[in-house]
Amino acid sequence: MRQSQLFTKTQKNAPAGEMSLNARLLIRGGFVDKLMAGAYTILPLGLRVMKKIENIIREEMNAIGGQEIFMPSLQPKENWETTGRWKTMDDLYKVKDASDREFALGPTHEEIVSPLAKKFLNSYKDLPFAAYQFQNKFRMELRAKSGILRGREFLMKDLYSFHISQENLDEYYEKAKIAYKNIFDRAGIGEKTYLTFASGGSFSKYSHEFQTETEAGEDIIFVCASCNMAINREIKDEIAHCPECQNHAFHEKKAVEVGNIFKLGTKYSAPFDLTVMNEKGEKVPVIMGCYGIGLQRLMGTIVELSSDENGIIWPESVAPFQVHLISLGKNEGAEKIHKDLQKNNIEVLFDDRDDTSAGAKFADADLIGIPWRVVVSEKSLASGGVEVKKRNEKESEIVEIEKLIEKIK
Ligand code: ATP
Ligand code: MG
Repeated sequence: MRQSQLFTKTQKNAPAGEMSLNARLLIRGGFVDKLMAGAYTILPLGLRVMKKIENIIREEMNAIGGQEIFMPSLQPKENWETTGRWKTMDDLYKVKDASDREFALGPTHEEIVSPLAKKFLNSYKDLPFAAYQFQNKFRMELRAKSGILRGREFLMKDLYSFHISQENLDEYYEKAKIAYKNIFDRAGIGEKTYLTFASGGSFSKYSHEFQTETEAGEDIIFVCASCNMAINREIKDEIAHCPECQNHAFHEKKAVEVGNIFKLGTKYSAPFDLTVMNEKGEKVPVIMGCYGIGLQRLMGTIVELSSDENGIIWPESVAPFQVHLISLGKNEGAEKIHKDLQKNNIEVLFDDRDDTSAGAKFADADLIGIPWRVVVSEKSLASGGVEVKKRNEKESEIVEIEKLIEKIK
């Protein structure tokens, strides 16, 4: 993509009142635009990052047998009354049409996916199965102050699994745990992300959070000094030792919940009378699990973990482009390298602007944070090549044009 054609521009300053690091950098770099607190437009550069994240998640969900669907955001009130959550869920957005009919804007989709499954499930032979989607969620977040980490409207991957027995759910849950670990590893935040026991009765059996250590987080977790499992604040008081390894020492850390997995049991299948015939011909309730990840939250967390005073430093796996090719002055050399990189399927942002100084181009490159910076000038060409620098390294080197592709690949 030619930067001269990109309709968004970088900005020297973030909007006044935007305090969070992730939103400040993402707005300045031209990745997102703030419509209001908790609602952000995803711009071309940001959407490329979101699509990278989405594809990583999709591959891992498909690997555990997830089937992709797409459910409506606009949902009938009756479904929410069936589970009682029309009254009990504080952050539910409710809308009314001209005929006074009421709807929910979906904050999650158990109320939709459970009656959906009921239409297709008859016998134990139809189980297990899992369906997932990438769909906007609406939540009445009253304190939306963490930039894109906490939106009022945000994209979530939500997977729902359906099982004949608790044992079958337990087995699937372990697979989902591994898929989640893979996702956060591949997105470059694995090292700082802790599998965390979450609250709820006999907690460790029902729910886990994936918490990423960052000052921007709104949660507190206690990481076991011995086995690296963590416990969230709500249960910490009830237990004196790590449920995994019995160790007593913990490190307290600020963290953000990037993902959550939950054994629902029959919580939603019961109100919708979602049942199947078991092998003995008896009607039994279906056992469910649910598994969520917020995509803007994941993108924002990556930014919180990976930046310096000049801008973002994207991990290669989610970077909007692999190479930021910068042409200094008009030169045919840069045009040719642009074509060569494209021919080799390397994603390039080509700074071909002829009205912009070298200094401004370098500042933009640092702010946008693409992993490889390649500078082509008359001077570099005269000394036999192009100047190559990685975003996370200080020194650049001259690389022969013939060796550039090989170096980047
Ligand atoms: P939190 O405690 O941060 O409000 P939650 O417990 O409400 O999160 P879940 O209902 O488990 O979150 O949603 C699943 C995932 O969706 C979370 O792990 C997180 O990644 C993401 N998520 C939740 N709320 C938001 C939000 N307001 N903005 C962006 N992502 C969110
Ligand atoms: Mg919440």
